[in-house]
Amino acid sequence: MPILLSAFLERQRLFRRASNLWSGCFLALFFTVLFGNIWFTARSDAWPSAAKGVWLVVFFGFLLACILVSYLMNKHLVSRHALLCPMCGTKLVGAAGQIAVATKNCPGCGQKVIDD
Ligand SMILES: [Zn+2]
Repeated sequence: MPILLSAFLERQRLFRRASNLWSGCFLALFFTVLFGNIWFTARSDAWPSAAKGVWLVVFFGFLLACILVSYLMNKHLVSRHALLCPMCGTKLVGAAGQIAVATKNCPGCGQKVIDD
């Protein structure tokens, strides 16, 4: 069932707003931890070598968790704003969303997803 163009554009606007808010908070936390790590490890000469190994695992665990959290949050926001093609599940955000608006069809399966 195709969605009205105005409703689709409103969903995209709300998605961008939520995504920008999330990205801002995420980047603030990410860079705080990143620069905090520089300050923290500058004092690591006095640490026992086991503590350095543990910190390395914790820090790279944090980096990997950031990748996972970013992926999951994007997936959550897309589905929360119903920006998935109902036929094939293609995410209708970014370039795919612009193609959908321009052609009224899903760029993944070619089915009509938007009505005028
Ligand atoms: Zn599709």
